[in-house]
Amino acid sequence: MSSDNGKNKKQESSKRPSSSKKPSSSKKQSDGPTEKGENADHDVFFVHGVSPIKNYGNDKEYFNCILQSESSARKAVCFSPKKHKMLTQVCESQSPIKISKLSSNINNNDVIVNQNSDVTLLKDAPFLPDDRFKKDSVLSLNDLLNLAQGQIVAVKAHVTRLYSETTHKTRSGEEIPRQEVTISDSTNSIKLVLYDQDVNTLTEGKSYILKNVRLHTFKDKVYVNSTAERKFDFKEIETISDPIDVNVATEVKMLCKIVGVASIHLTRICVSCTKKLNIVDFDKTIDCHQCHATMLVDSCRVTISFTLILNDVDKNKNIQLYFPSDKCGQLRKIINFSLEDDKCIAKALLEFPDIFEIFFDIVSNTVLDVSKV
Ligand SMILES: [Zn+2]
Repeated sequence: MSSDNGKNKKQESSKRPSSSKKPSSSKKQSDGPTEKGENADHDVFFVHGVSPIKNYGNDKEYFNCILQSESSARKAVCFSPKKHKMLTQVCESQSPIKISKLSSNINNNDVIVNQNSDVTLLKDAPFLPDDRFKKDSVLSLNDLLNLAQGQIVAVKAHVTRLYSETTHKTRSGEEIPRQEVTISDSTNSIKLVLYDQDVNTLTEGKSYILKNVRLHTFKDKVYVNSTAERKFDFKEIETISDPIDVNVATEVKMLCKIVGVASIHLTRICVSCTKKLNIVDFDKTIDCHQCHATMLVDSCRVTISFTLILNDVDKNKNIQLYFPSDKCGQLRKIINFSLEDDKCIAKALLEFPDIFEIFFDIVSNTVLDVSKV
């Protein structure tokens, strides 16, 4: 399947959307039964962060914005480009609007605005526009907790730790540098992930205003990353004197079901030289290409890692997670698959009907613990 350290790179690259990509919520746009109607009490909004019009597929157009209601703020995908001008205007004037016939993407909870959604201007609203969404707002890390997933934000924070550079495989297969950074202020401590030319631009122990980073939230945990779309911008400021010194917790628990297998890496190890064996063709015995020993396939130690597509059963949302070798072992105690070949492992995983619990890191998308429920 894919590269050796297939650490869920597809998943990560999907967080760096390019303008040519189909918008996530376009899926089943015209497929009525998968969408649910919005409650009429919650159709009054302030509009923030209207994106330029983007293309997907054959000359189809859409744009994104944030719809702030009285109780929440959600990312919206608007498939009606003729509404772009009006929504841009109400965003600038911070005038409240009412939108009818909205729907919701069942997979990611984005709001969907269609051709037949009606937008009406309102004189006033029973709540105020949230200042944190203003274009030039520089936020505290705690401010991020209630904002919409996917929003581009600016934060003021202190770099408490820089991690070593790693590589990241983009959707197109290109390898680019990637670096994790821990940033803190007096309210919180979170991860920042830098990509490509943004790697190694910050210095540990200095404080900055960091602009054009994208917010990701998952079960009350947040992190931000630089994007390919907007230039990451940073300006050193006077050192923040009271950054909180806690370990960044980006680990969450999730009840899930296996819905897909993204990749499996199965390796057999030579009993003589302990190098990886080439398993292109073998019967009951196999020859080592390194030391030329012949051995029984069944005697070889096997190592395995895989990336699975899991459905978060509480949110009905899919996520790709990487299982390192020892976590594959944990899963194997729940799902008793044989280590014969990729195909039979995939079959056993996909046929497993039960829900299990995992604990994973939302920044690296790596599984930390697997347990039965
Ligand atoms: Zn060997």
